[in-house]
Amino acid sequence: MFRIYGGVKYYKVRHAILCKRCNETIESKEFHDFKTCSCGSVSIDGGLQGRILGTCFEDRSMFCAFVGEKRIWLPFFNDDVSYGFYDRSH
Ligand SMILES: [Zn+2]
Repeated sequence: MFRIYGGVKYYKVRHAILCKRCNETIESKEFHDFKTCSCGSVSIDGGLQGRILGTCFEDRSMFCAFVGEKRIWLPFFNDDVSYGFYDRSH
């Protein structure tokens, strides 16, 4: 899973979301790591290749890239959730 930004390829290193109802951040670290927030509005699973169940969330995933020996982080885009791989069918 990666994104291209400014001609640089950023790899996904954290699969996490913030529930906008209960304000809890949940993260899925492994394929079978299924988490649900306190209020039950959103769930996350599948690790880095995973999916998100529910719609009331902000993306807290993190992407990073190596340029030379420098690690750089992709900044958050709160208005940009067009990753194209979320399962929103639930
Ligand atoms: Zn919640």
